[in-house]
Amino acid sequence: MIDSHVHIVGNGSSGSGCKIRPSGAHKLLAHYMLHQLGLPQSALRGDLDNIYVERLVHFVETSDLDQVVILPHEEVYDEHGRIIDEENNFYIPNDYIFELCERYGCFLPAVSIHPARADAVDELERCAAKGAVLMKCLPNCQNIDCENPRYIPFWEKMAQLGMPLLAHTGGEHTVKQINPKYADPRTLKTPLDCGVTVIAAHCGTKSGLVDPEYFDIFCSMLSEHDNLFGDISGLQLPIRSAYLPRCLDGLIAQRIIHGSDFPVPSQPIWSWMRGHIDSPTFAKARAIKNPLQRDLWVKRQIGIPEAAFQRAREILRLTD
Ligand SMILES: [Zn+2]
Repeated sequence: MIDSHVHIVGNGSSGSGCKIRPSGAHKLLAHYMLHQLGLPQSALRGDLDNIYVERLVHFVETSDLDQVVILPHEEVYDEHGRIIDEENNFYIPNDYIFELCERYGCFLPAVSIHPARADAVDELERCAAKGAVLMKCLPNCQNIDCENPRYIPFWEKMAQLGMPLLAHTGGEHTVKQINPKYADPRTLKTPLDCGVTVIAAHCGTKSGLVDPEYFDIFCSMLSEHDNLFGDISGLQLPIRSAYLPRCLDGLIAQRIIHGSDFPVPSQPIWSWMRGHIDSPTFAKARAIKNPLQRDLWVKRQIGIPEAAFQRAREILRLTD
């Protein structure tokens, strides 16, 4: 069983090159997430790299999961491949992810590459050779216009390498949005048409009250594109929790894959308030202190088909 959407967070304390500089409301969110993980607030300025990874490994090893895909986080570039410095508040390098995967067998490496980079295709090939199982990006936060024709060779190389694209869809509130219109799953048509297997993270659901709604658009795209999937990560949040029961039947049930979006909190209270789980189930969920285990356990109680927890094996670029 694989959780295909787990974030790595770090501040560079181990020499990893990671960067985290939350500002404004994002600072509050960062503190809230630390609290959820049972980590001290001082960790942000302390040895966050190692504290975070040790915590994560412990959660994986004490859950029903066999492995988790750990995600790096690319920097923000303009369409000419120049880094937009003032927008770069969070960065997790690809090589740090590979290092962690060498150290811990329960981790599978994702990579993150902005297709505007001059070395994008080279970096993709390099990372594929090192065993990357997917390429992750947040088009709306990293300023990636997936329809830009200049990126077509990059998508074609991804298709050729059998590298799936995990692309964030729907609004985003944990990191800053640069271009909200790139949250629309319809912008993923170019990579889909190039033959890339695309996983729309969060199935296009909205996370903020004023975010546009893309879930139905995502569902309608499934019949047009056999190579389109959706992950059910981050769906135990106040607004997104409404959509889990809508993933149980029809075509979408055959195209979802499990992911948690750790360390984004997974809160069963919303499923209980919406009547998707009863009170005894909610009480049992609250007793599960491991957030990775709680997330998958509650999804099973809601009735997410078992195949959704196994499907990553068919979709990810697993070499053995
Ligand atoms: Zn995420």
